This record gives sequence, structure tokens and C-alpha cells, in this order.
Amino acid sequence: MLDKPSATVEDFKMLIGGAWVDARSGKQLASENPYVGEVWANVPDGDAVDVDAAVTAARAALQGEWGSLSAQARGKLMRRLGDLIAENAKDIAQVESTDNGKLYKEMLAQAKYLPEWLYYFAGAADKFGGDVIPSERPNFHIYTRHEPVGVVGAITPWNSPVLLLGFKLAPALAAGCTLVVKPSEHTPASTLRFAELFEKAGFPPGVVNVVTGGREAGEALSRHPGINKLTFTGSDVTGKKVMQAGAENFTRVTLELGGKSPNIVFDDADLDAAANGVIAGIFGATGQTCMAGSRLLVQASIKDALLERVAARAKTIKLGDPMDMGTEMGPMATRPQFEKVMGMLDRAKASGAHFVSGGQASPDHDGFFIEATIVDGITPDMEIAKDEIFGPVLSVLTFETEEEAVALANDTRFGLAAGIWTQSGQRGTRVAHQLRAGTVWINAYRVVAPNVPFGGFGHSGIGRENGFDAIRGYTETKAVWTELTGATRDPFNIG
Ligand code: NAD
Repeated sequence: MLDKPSATVEDFKMLIGGAWVDARSGKQLASENPYVGEVWANVPDGDAVDVDAAVTAARAALQGEWGSLSAQARGKLMRRLGDLIAENAKDIAQVESTDNGKLYKEMLAQAKYLPEWLYYFAGAADKFGGDVIPSERPNFHIYTRHEPVGVVGAITPWNSPVLLLGFKLAPALAAGCTLVVKPSEHTPASTLRFAELFEKAGFPPGVVNVVTGGREAGEALSRHPGINKLTFTGSDVTGKKVMQAGAENFTRVTLELGGKSPNIVFDDADLDAAANGVIAGIFGATGQTCMAGSRLLVQASIKDALLERVAARAKTIKLGDPMDMGTEMGPMATRPQFEKVMGMLDRAKASGAHFVSGGQASPDHDGFFIEATIVDGITPDMEIAKDEIFGPVLSVLTFETEEEAVALANDTRFGLAAGIWTQSGQRGTRVAHQLRAGTVWINAYRVVAPNVPFGGFGHSGIGRENGFDAIRGYTETKAVWTELTGATRDPFNIG
């Protein structure tokens, strides 16, 4: 077990143009440790004035030293940053876990994996070239350039603040952009701790700026005319507002939003492996992950056998101190999130749902703990089956045929991820191709990698993070036409 968070409240400053500053207004935001339910850090409560200063700094960096660096030189800085993240992984994880109450061991695994994003995109930086376009006119040489889109506004959620920022930062830096980052007001501290590494890695001031604050700062960033691209991870409701605000300036957007992802278990599945995958999919990270497998779709003939296994394990999940390496589920990250989940459980109870396990706040813990909950006896039109819960709650629905499974899985406005459990390779692939989801795992769940595109269909978002294509999202493509002969052409016949 690691040290319990200290009783003293730590003061953080934010990063604008290479300087660590307070909000111009002098206001501060308190960050609560959800495990002990106490304020542990204060951060600047930035607003439109601070956002404007950060955008100005990011623009200056883009037009200054950073803008003239080669892709190879940017890659070198990124590799150095990756090394520094690896060296500081424990520190970042400890701050993150204190801020959002997620398991230290999970946050540590994320912080240790994050350097791979920097290394992958550092390597990609000088390999993302344009094309020479074969011209039908022999007197033209035509080629494309992928130029940095410019200043990027990155808005992140509370569940995995630093890793999810890495998904944005690494391709944006590889493309040559500069950034203004706005972390969640619930978990701002880990991003500030992470930001200390930029200067150490040797990035010029202003390449990455962090403005902490709440909705006001997010809104100011979304509507700022100096932002060329918004990259947002959060709820679909906020994502829509970000997109609407950005539309005023035709700001490019990538949105990574929520989900109601199905874990589909067929009667030919390895039931032990499937039960394990279902548990990992919904109770890992206390269900506070966009890709949570929150809908279990199970073939009717194996429902009892599967639920028995899943429920037995759910009942033994060890709730407790997120810093304790033996803990399996921590608390809800924030009070509003705890209240939201409890409200959904109460409404499900009132509408006659059957609770196979859990269903209430943990009687054994103070703070925002909710038991691992499995809800059966529901219909697809109920709130608990339709809406994102973002907590440790599994909604169970059954199907008879493969066609019904696909129809049920696709009966959602979301489309982030899906799991398929079957021992038939043909069925797995066939079903994967019919699902409207950005990621499909067959006999696995909740795996991501820097080189594999991640993103959603429908209300789960726009665009993709990770993979080579992520860099493209941080560029504008320019076509350059060079006339080779110098011949004078008829000005009224340019077709
Ligand atoms: P949220 O939408 O409430 O907040 C996300 C960010 O937006 C925060 O930084 C917040 O301050 C900011 N914000 C709030 N109002 C804003 C506004 N009007 N304009 C601009 N910015 C504003 O989301 P959350 O509760 O922090 O995170 C949980 C959500 O994130 C879930 O829906 C989850 O599914 C989603 N999520 C998605 C992914 C993914 O990759 N698809 C990953 C993790 C989380």
C-alpha cells in the first residue's frame, strides 16, 4: 500500500507560454480526492482571458522556433518526452489516482504505456509525406503537402486525463501543431504535473499550454477564432456544444464521445473466458471508461450459465483504497457522477428491473463507492439499457439468433466498441463486419494501442485517434501545381 494522500492542500499553477501562472482573475478551483472525499489540490480557475493568452502563446510558438523545426527534430523532442514520462510514471499515476480515485495500478499501467504513443508518433513524424500526383497534363508537376493545421484546442475528461491527452498530443506534435489543453475541472492536477515535462524535454515555450478551469474555459477555447482544430474527449452532450461553438469559425473537430458498447456472447463461446471478458469490460476502471462493455447481449440458451459465472465474480470484487495494489474497484471519480449512477439505478428499480448483483452504494465504504451491479429483466427501450451510465453497471439483454444479436447490438445511437465471444472464427468475423462500432474485439475486450485507430460511429464521435491516420487529422492538405514550360495559356480556357 502506498502513502495515503497527505492532508495538506497542494497549490498548482497552469502553463502559458512557458510560464507557470495563476488565473488572471486570481480565482482557484478545488480538486477533490474522491476516496477520502476531501480537497487535496487547488488549481487556477482559468477563463476566457487566460484562454486567449494561451492561444496567443501557442500561435507565437507555431510561428517561431517550433514552426521551423524539421519533422526529425520534432521527433527527437517527442522521444525525449516519452523517456521522461517513463521516468516519472509513478508520480503521474499517484497524482492521477489521487485526483480521480481510479486504481493506482491502472493509472500506473497507463502512465507506463503512454511513452509508446510518443515513440510511435515521433517515428511517424518524418514518414508522413505528401504525394506526387500523376498529372494528365504533361506540363504540370503536382504534389501535396500535409501542413500542420495550426493551433489545437484539446479538451479532456476526468477518467484517464493524461493517457487521453497523449492520444491527442502525440499526433498533433508529430504534425507540427501547437496546443492549448483544457483538462477536466474534476481532475486537473495530473495534466499540470505532466506538463512540467515539456520544458525538461526541451520543447520551446508555448508549444504546449495548459489552462485549467471549468465549462467557461472549455467554451472560450471552443469558440476562439485563433483555434484551428478542436480535439475533444468527453460526453456526447458536451461534444455537441463544442462542435456548435467551433462551427462559427469552421474549426476542424475530432470528437471522442461516449458509448453503450455491447459484449455479445454466443452459445459456442468459452464461457469462462467470456465471463472474464465481461467482468473486465464493465467493472474494470469501475465502469468509468468510454469503451465499457455496458450491455451484455447473451444467447438465451447459455444465459443462466454465463450470468452465474459473472455474478459470482462480481460479488467478490474487492472495493477499496485506489492506492492499494490489491483493490479491484475504486470509487466513482466525482460526486455528481456517483449521484448520476445512483439515480439511474433507482429508476431501474422503480421500473421493475431485477438486480442479479449489487444495485446500491457500498455499505462497507464511505465516499462514492457503488457495488458491482448486474441488471436483468430489462427491455432495450429502458434508460438503463440505452444511456451511458459510466459506472459499474452491466445491463443484460438476451437474443436467440445471430441476426437478433446484430440488431440488438446496433440498436443504439452510439457505436464506439463491441466484443464478440464465440469459438467460430467465421461467425466472429461475420458479426464484426455487421456491427456499427469503431472497434470490435473478438474473444477479447478493452485493448488499445498507439498504432490502431480508435473512435466511434454515430454519437460516439467524429474522426479517429491513434494510428497513422490520427496525424492526418492535425494537418491541412495543400496541393501544389507547378507549370513546367512557361507557355502562355488562353486565360478564358483554363479547363
Ligand atoms: P464532459 O463532457 O462532462 O467534460 C469533458 C470536458 O469538457 C471537460 O474538460 C469539461 O470541463 C469540458 N466542458 C464542459 N462543458 C463544456 C462546454 N460547454 N464547452 C467546452 N468544454 C466543456 O465529460 P466527462 O464527464 O469529463 O467525461 C466522461 C465522458 O467522456 C463520458 O461520456 C465518456 O464516455 C467520455 N469519454 C470518451 C472517450 C473516448 O475516447 N471516446 C474516452 C473517455 C471518456
